[in-house]
Amino acid sequence: MYLCKSLVSSQNKKGMLNIIIFGAPGSGKGTQSLKLIEKYGLKHISTGDLLRSEIKAGTDLGRLAESYMSQGKLVPDEIVIGMIENLIKEHPDARGFIFDGFPRTLAQGKALYEVLEQNGQDLSVVLSLEVEDKELVERLLKRGEISGRSDDNRETIEARLQVYYDQTAPLKDYYQGKRKLEKIKGQGSIEDIFASIERVVDGLIE
Ligand code: AMP
Repeated sequence: MYLCKSLVSSQNKKGMLNIIIFGAPGSGKGTQSLKLIEKYGLKHISTGDLLRSEIKAGTDLGRLAESYMSQGKLVPDEIVIGMIENLIKEHPDARGFIFDGFPRTLAQGKALYEVLEQNGQDLSVVLSLEVEDKELVERLLKRGEISGRSDDNRETIEARLQVYYDQTAPLKDYYQGKRKLEKIKGQGSIEDIFASIERVVDGLIE
């Protein structure tokens, strides 16, 4: 937790570190987010986790979200964008955010830029975890056995990967164009992957 405000000010108006952890389902975004939070003291925003809590709480939003999630489809942009807007506004004192599983469409990516800007902030970096399809499917099937996540079954996994390539992966070009994209090899040990992430993030705050 050695984030120094003045040192990151060149990255961001408020000296915040706003990181998108990007990648296909099963690429390790959640796992690496936890390590990032621990080291840099950032606020974790996972749209998947937020939507699963709405489902668990039995809210209208949860019921609506479930109808998409159970088929491996994306929940409509306006719903997830609204959730993110509220969270950013609710945490003005955060050292920064880790966006995990958001944005997943170009519209979400553009909305995030706008929301950050409206709140006097900027995007620091997009860490893209690169993992081969075969390994993604193996990891997700294994997670389905352990965690019992209902969308971790073979049929839904295939749909989610298709959605990723059709709707989410094009965001990489968008962020490349903004010079924010950093590709990280997402295969190997959790520690080795995190070491690559640390090199990038430390480079931003040094
Ligand atoms: P995740 O936990 O990130 O794998 O997300 C699980 C599911 O929640 C996805 O397959 C989508 O149905 C939904 N979801 C999560 N984040 C988003 C998002 N940013 N946009 C649309 N749908 C989302």
